[in-house]
Amino acid sequence: MSRHARFTIDADVTPKFTACYLRTAGDECAFIEAHTAHARSRLLGALAEHGKKPEDVRWVVVTHAHLDHAAGASALLAACPKATLVAHSRTAKNLIDPARLIEGATAVYGAARFAELYGTVTAIPKERVLVLGDGESIELGDAKLTAWNTAGHAYHHFIVDDPATDTVFTGDTFGLVYPALQTHGLFALPSTSPTGFNAEEAQKSLDKVLSLGRRSVCPTHYDAHEETQAIAAQVRRFVDRAGSWVDEAARSDEPTQAMEARLASLWWAAIAEEAPHFGSDEKKLLALDVELNAQGLAFVADALRGKPR
Ligand SMILES: [Zn+2]
Repeated sequence: MSRHARFTIDADVTPKFTACYLRTAGDECAFIEAHTAHARSRLLGALAEHGKKPEDVRWVVVTHAHLDHAAGASALLAACPKATLVAHSRTAKNLIDPARLIEGATAVYGAARFAELYGTVTAIPKERVLVLGDGESIELGDAKLTAWNTAGHAYHHFIVDDPATDTVFTGDTFGLVYPALQTHGLFALPSTSPTGFNAEEAQKSLDKVLSLGRRSVCPTHYDAHEETQAIAAQVRRFVDRAGSWVDEAARSDEPTQAMEARLASLWWAAIAEEAPHFGSDEKKLLALDVELNAQGLAFVADALRGKPR
């Protein structure tokens, strides 16, 4: 048996907000999630800290193509000469030809802000990419990591089951579970950011994670948690609400901007019900996610009412 371990790397500017995971198995290792090019030195630093070299990295696995998970993949592969990118087919397509990803985010943020947020994203040569289908696996030492498709947050999302460490790497499938929000009881919020939210699929994906029966979940936001049933239950309640907000919004003729503002206040009200103790610090930490969640639901409602953008 090779020795198995996973380590959490704090990848973002905001502490304990976005994780990458270093998974070691004997002589081999893998990264789960790549964050952005700005995180590269932290990721390489984690390798050194655990006695590994960039040449020891066999896999860079990303759960989906959203930029806080995958924008750093090209920079990381450039630094790790033997590594192969492992991704869902649609994620792989977007990283082999990242023009659409870059265009989409540049349209929202502008080129300067894009660079500040995500760094440089370059095309990944397709010979360095391995596509994993639903239920397919890679080997790491004597461990097996298996991808399971989990739509709901994004249609191109998979989770990674890792029996050897009794862990599921859940990406954005199993809620945002920020450590700073766990001080007075559990708090887990689904991410319904644009553009792929689907309530029904999100519920199925929660079931999928639970069905694997692992001790720990490792959401990208953030770190390992063992209260899997309680996290799922809370995320489920939020997803149920979000699903009915979308249905209702899709039947209305409310202008998109007003809808987004209204959805944001619905999110805040639901959060206050689940976590009445939250004060201004907690709300500040959640402000971006609430804004993105409102935008994501309005996007889906617009699509449903035949107003695609
Ligand atoms: Zn995401």
